[in-house]
Order: sequence, then structure tokens, then C-alpha cells
Amino acid sequence: MTKWVYIFGEGVTDGDASMRNLLGGKGANLAEMARLGLPVPPGFTITTEVCTQYYKGGESYPSELDAQINAALETVGKLTGRTFGDPANPLLLSVRSGARVSMPGMMDTVLNLGLNDTTVAALAKESNDERFAYDSYRRFIQMYSDVVLNVDGDYFEEIIEDYKDEHDLVLDTDLSAEDWKKVVVLFKAKTEEELGKPFPDDPREQLWGAIGAVFGSWMLPRAQTYRRLHDLPSDWGTAVNVQAMVFGNMGDDSATGVAFSRNPSNGENALYGEYLINAQGEDVVAGIRTPQDITEAARIAAGSDKPSLEATMPQMYQQFAEACKKLETHYRDMQDMEFTIERGKLWMLQTRNGKRTLKAALKIAVDMADEGVISKEEAVKRIDPTSLDQLLHPTIDPDAEIDELATGLPASPGAASGAIVFNSDEAEAEKADGKAVVLCRVETSPEDIHGMHAAEGILTSRGGMTSHAAVVARGMGKPCVAGAGTIRMDMRNEVMVADGRTFKKGDIITIDGGSGQVIAGQVKMRQPELSGDFKKLMQWADNIRRLRVRTNAETPTDVKVALSFGAEGIGLCRTEHMFFDGDRITSVREMILADTLQERRAALDKLLPMQRGDFIEIFELMDDLPVTIRLLDPPLHEFLPKTDAEIAEVAKHMGVDAEDLKERAEELHEFNPMLGNRGCRLLISYPEVAEMQARAIFEAAAEVSKSRSVQVKPEVMVPLVGLKAELDEVKQRIEAMAEAVEAEKGIKLDYSIGTMIELPRAALQSEEIAKSAEFFSFGTNDLTQTTFGISRDDAGSFLGKYQEKGLIEKDPFITLDSDGVGELIKHAAEHGRKTRPNIKLGICGEHGGDPASIAFCEETGLDYVSCSPFRVPVARLAAAQAVLKGADTGTL
Ligand code: PEP
Ligand code: MG
Repeated sequence: MTKWVYIFGEGVTDGDASMRNLLGGKGANLAEMARLGLPVPPGFTITTEVCTQYYKGGESYPSELDAQINAALETVGKLTGRTFGDPANPLLLSVRSGARVSMPGMMDTVLNLGLNDTTVAALAKESNDERFAYDSYRRFIQMYSDVVLNVDGDYFEEIIEDYKDEHDLVLDTDLSAEDWKKVVVLFKAKTEEELGKPFPDDPREQLWGAIGAVFGSWMLPRAQTYRRLHDLPSDWGTAVNVQAMVFGNMGDDSATGVAFSRNPSNGENALYGEYLINAQGEDVVAGIRTPQDITEAARIAAGSDKPSLEATMPQMYQQFAEACKKLETHYRDMQDMEFTIERGKLWMLQTRNGKRTLKAALKIAVDMADEGVISKEEAVKRIDPTSLDQLLHPTIDPDAEIDELATGLPASPGAASGAIVFNSDEAEAEKADGKAVVLCRVETSPEDIHGMHAAEGILTSRGGMTSHAAVVARGMGKPCVAGAGTIRMDMRNEVMVADGRTFKKGDIITIDGGSGQVIAGQVKMRQPELSGDFKKLMQWADNIRRLRVRTNAETPTDVKVALSFGAEGIGLCRTEHMFFDGDRITSVREMILADTLQERRAALDKLLPMQRGDFIEIFELMDDLPVTIRLLDPPLHEFLPKTDAEIAEVAKHMGVDAEDLKERAEELHEFNPMLGNRGCRLLISYPEVAEMQARAIFEAAAEVSKSRSVQVKPEVMVPLVGLKAELDEVKQRIEAMAEAVEAEKGIKLDYSIGTMIELPRAALQSEEIAKSAEFFSFGTNDLTQTTFGISRDDAGSFLGKYQEKGLIEKDPFITLDSDGVGELIKHAAEHGRKTRPNIKLGICGEHGGDPASIAFCEETGLDYVSCSPFRVPVARLAAAQAVLKGADTGTL
């Protein structure tokens, strides 16, 4: 016979913490606490399998369940010395849901179940407090009607308010036992009116109703949405925990509270929590009364004059503090606990690993490893790599003078300055021109993703902490101030009015997503200061990981940030980004639009010193760390002049007719630029570009090498290769240029030439291509695009739907598609090594900063990952976790 019901309580517990899948988190931990000998009110857990069966069997229960519940009720009755439904000595129950992970959206709690017109009298007698008994009874009817019978909870609040008005009463505490008795009658009448049948008096009917409501809540739309957002499978099901009631509201020797074994906001190793005297469970979290501190130290620190638990009930405090220690030591993690004191007796109601801020998570992990509670490896596993983003963004210099315009919600941490733009296309265009912008909107929508990506920060005048802007910005690690309601965004006229002043497109503002401040002008920033705990943990991670971590960077600022975050090289220097700088773009356009080789060379001659200067700066910053420089890559259309003004400017520079030039630009127009003349094709069409870039690289290397003992060894990378012949064609130009520079400078250069693997054909032909390539760098952005045949620029419009429908689990442009794209990478790695056993293998697509993709890279034995500067710490940690086979960050 299947066991559907597990008991917990002194001497009878048959579950434990390892049974989380079957008993849910709450149930498994109640069983474990009971096993540890802690005072847990006895009860039982109906397993998650009942939930699964319930839905499989068309919402019906397994046939043995009834008998098992009855037996469990009897055992609990024995332990408490009471009987469920007994008129003289009734057992009262709480009923709670409890899935494997705590899940908002599920039915939460029904308290005082088992009360009816008869048992309430027994409770009154036993507690010697009629008012308490009828207050408990009305709470039960209210809660049960609301969460089990779906009668709108507002009705009951209205009844209480009307009653108070009629009887000249102000506070709930002004109502006497007689008053509550009358309210109970009114409540029951209301429920009957709404339901068309009386409120259930039979305790068993009440219990089955509550059990059904818990299971029913598993499929409520809000619970389903939560599961979808958090990737939780539907077939997990929820458990139901039925437990003997204990009362924290039985007078001044009773209390209830919640506590953490360490401080969840800063990680300090000190008990931290709140309690209320003479109150029932939910009162503490409901915020109706202001809770008091548990410890004296916390009370003093908070400057509170309300006595702490430590002061009011020293003995209870002592017992509770010991229980906390015991639980933390046992679970080897910070615990979040609920307790109740009933007439001088402590009861533990719940424990679980506590949620914490990242700062606290780092401190707790490092402290616990230093205390010897956990190993360094475990500490490393406990931090969610992606959460590190929060730590890494610049903040406003506290000494900076600030001209504050407004404050909104601090929706996503970090500070950013930039020019105001009001629409996302413009944000993208400005970013492409190398400008920093802040995207300002009334609110954002999915159509703004590209603009949000492009912007340094996002400001909205409407919306809360879970608005689209807030959620998406947090996900991207972009600073965001949301819902700055005093700002008026006039989208049509492209102005915003803040603090009585008008700001137009292009004006500079600063936002601080940590404080919610919106500030006029550019503000001095302070680069993130990483705590000692962060450094220590990252060092531990570095000792564990095998993968090297490089960065994708091309500006000195990015390079410096990446180095400060621990980058061990540049895996991708996108040289075209240097071409968009200032008025270089004009020379680039001249070069592309030139009719003759001579004109083209003239334009390139202007670019050469600039590129050389860029590379000198980078080589100097990177010292002896490796630098991979990619030759010109992007689709041609990105360089072509678009507006008449741009055409006129280029024409002027070239001394040609603007109309002719426009025609030439139109000739170069491509239907599908992403698959057009880009990457090595561009270098083959315009070999002088490859030559100029190679010269700039080698001259810079020669220059920087002169001044130091270790020679610069540039890695020159050819993009978008599909044929070995393409690589060879470009390679011979590079080699010829190296020889030329060697002859001119009278030195021997040390360099390597490799390719990106960005096309399925390249992956499949890797054995052949490796004959010419000294390294492979997987360009998984393009490789994903070309493997799926999905345009990386247009994917946003439909991939979201795919995810909603469950056709794909993750966006393959964020997390590497290991089944498809990953197979190509594996093939290329394996076959590349056949030709060249020591071929250096890396990844430089966006996936290089994604923890799941990094785990794939570890598994595949790549040498390094390369990611954007802010992702470097994420990658260092994820690479260590990949060695340790996964993270254990369930608490975050
Ligand atoms: C890639 O395709 O993955 C890559 C790194 O190159 P880009 O994003 O510049 O096309
Ligand atoms: Mg690419």
C-alpha cells in the first residue's frame, strides 16, 4: 500500500529533510526538526504524490488516503491529548501548502481549523478567555471562507467596519467576546448568502475542504505563471501540512515571531528577527502591529524603545537562540525560522534556508567556510554567478554634487549617465554611433528590448518594481529607475519635464538605480568597490576553475574594467567598433565607397595611424596577457551613409558628387546583409582593409615590444570563415604584411593567425580549416544564427512566443543550444584537435558569460571563455562551479 501520509512529532516522525520531493520543503523540514528533538507541534504531511495523483485521476484522491489521514489524526490526537472534533477537548489544526520550493501564488494557510459553535466553547473554557476564543473563531471563518470557499475577503472586513461604526468602536481590540460572537453570526450568514449553503461546521468537512483548496491552488493561474517564470515543472505537485495549533495570542506570556540565524541583509553572524507578544502567526508579517526586535543588540542598533524578546522572556529567548544554532549547524546554512510561544512554551513552526542579499550571501558563504562549517568548494557553489552583476556596477561618488530632479523606484542597481533618448530605435542608433544614452519612457514594453540593451540606463515615469522596465533591466544588469511619477514624459514632443525644468532629447542626465535618484547632468561615478568577501570567494573560484576567462573589449575603458574584474586576456577585440569612433566613420565610408584602389588606399591611410594608436593602447594595458584581434567583420550596410547629410559629408571629403555617391551606396545595398558581404568576405572584397589592419596590429606590436622584455604576441583572427580557402586568402595577406613590417622595423614578430567558427560549414570542416588556423574562437552569436537559420536581430519578435508555448526552454542566443549548436562545437573541437592537437579553443559569443553555456564549455574542454567586462566575475565563478558540477544556490 502506498504511504500517502507522513507523521511528525515527538517519537513518531517518519519523514526527514532528504524527502523534500515527497514532503515538500516545509514538510521535510518539520520532520527533520522533530527528529532533531526540537519542539514541533505534531502533525502530518500529505505527500506531493497525492497532488500528482489527484490531477491524474480527474481531481479525485487515492482510496487509502481517508484511512491514512484518520490514523494520522489519531496519532496527533494522542500526542496532544486531544481529539479532532471533540466537543470538550478539541484538536485544532493549521493547514498549509508546501511545494518543493516555496512558491508564491499557492494557498498559504488556514488556522484554527476544527472550530465550530461547539468547539469554540471548549476553547473559551480551556483558555479561560472567551474573547480570545471567539476572536479565533471569527478569524477562522474569515480565512476559511476566503481561501477555501472563495468568498471575497473584503466582505468580512466590511462587516467588522460596519459593526464598529454601529457600536461606536474604533479598534479591533475594542470588540468584546460578545461583539465577536455577533460578528461570527454575521460572517456565517454572509458566507451562506454567497455560497447558497451554510458554512461547514463539521471539522472533517472543514479539513477535506482545506486539503482540496491546497491541491486546487496548485493549478491556479498565478501559481502556474510563477512556475513558468521560474522553470518549475507542473508535475512536482504540492504537499499539504496539517499541524496541531499552538497559540501565540493566549496572553502576555505568549508570542510569535520570525528570525534568521544570521543577518539576511549584511550577513553578520548574529541572530536577527522580530516578534510580537500576544499575537497570532500572520500578525508579524502582516504589518498591522510593528514587531519588536528579538535581540537586545538589534534593539539598541535600531534605537527602538520596545523591549526585545531577550529582555521580556529571557528563558524563551535562550531556548530559541539554542534552537537556531542547532538548526544552522545541522543544515550548514543560514536558517529562516518561525516560532510561537504559547503560555511560556516554545514551539518551532518552520525552518528553511533563508533568502539573503548578495552581500549577505557572500559574507555568509565565506564566513562559514572560514568557520569550517562548509568547504571552500561549497562556498563557491552557494553564490549564483549571475547575481554578481549587482555588485559590479558603478555607483555615484558620495562626494559628488548632485542636482536631483526626481526620485523613482530603485529598480535595478548601478548608476549611469547618458543623453536622453525617447525611443528605442534611437537608443540603438546612438549606441551604434558610440554615444551613451539613457532611455526615457513612460513605461517600456517588449518592443523596447533593443533600446534597453543599447542604453546605459532606463528611466520610466510609470510602473513598479515588477514593471517590464524593472524586471527586464534587472535581468540585463542595467541600471533602472522606474515609476518616477513626478516626471512628465512628453513623448510626442520629445521632452521631459522634471522639477519644473524641461529636458530635451540629447540632454545629459544621470540615474541611480540603487537609490532611485534622477539627476541633471553628468555625475562623478565611483567604480564598484568589491568587498573582501567577494575577493576571497573569487580567489577560491580561481583556484578551482580550469577554464581561462578573457574579455570582449576594444576600448581602453572596457579593457581597464575587465582587467579590474580579473580578465586574463582579450578573447575578442572587435575592430569595427573602433571604426565608428568620432569622425573615423567618414574615412571608413570613403574607403567603402571609393571607386578606385587609389581612393581606397587614401582613405585607409587616414585610418592606419588611428588603428595603430588603438592597438598600442590595448597592448600596453594588457601587458603580457593574450590579445585576440578580429579583422573587420560587420555587414556592409552598417558602414554605409544613410542620411543625405551623411552622404554629403562623405562626398565632400572625397571630392565627388553627392548624387553619384548616393547611387554607389544604393548599389551596395544588400537584401540580407547578415548573410551578405561581411566577415572574411569583406576582407576578400577589400584586401587593402585586411592589410591596413594587419599593419596597424604589427606596427603596434613592434612599438610596444620595444619598450619591454616580453614581446607582444598578437592573435589575429579572421571572422566568418566557411572555407579553408577563404582563411588562406586572408592569411597570406596578413603574413605578407608581417614580413613587410619585420623588414621595415628590423625585428622578428611573434604572432598567430586563427579563425572564428561561426558557420556550420566551418565547424564541419574544422579538421581542414585547422591546417591553416592556429586557434578557433567559437562565435556562437553567428553560429546560433546560422545553425537555426534565425536572424539574431529579428529573433526577439517570435522566440518569446516559442518560450511561452514551451517549444524551446531557453533563448538560444542567451544560453547555448547544446543539442544543436553544441554538437557543432564539439565536432569542431574534436576534429580541429585531430589536425592540430594543441589548437587553442575559446568562445567569444555572448554565451561566454552565461553560466549554463560555460558549463558546456568546461565539459567540451575549451581553453577559455571570453565575455563582456562586467560578466568576467560571473564567468570566473561559473567556470569554477562547472568544475564542481553545478551550483547550489537554492536559497537565492
Ligand atoms: C559571434 O558571432 O558570436 C561573435 C562573437 O561575433 P559578433 O557578435 O561580432 O558577430
Ligand atoms: Mg560573429
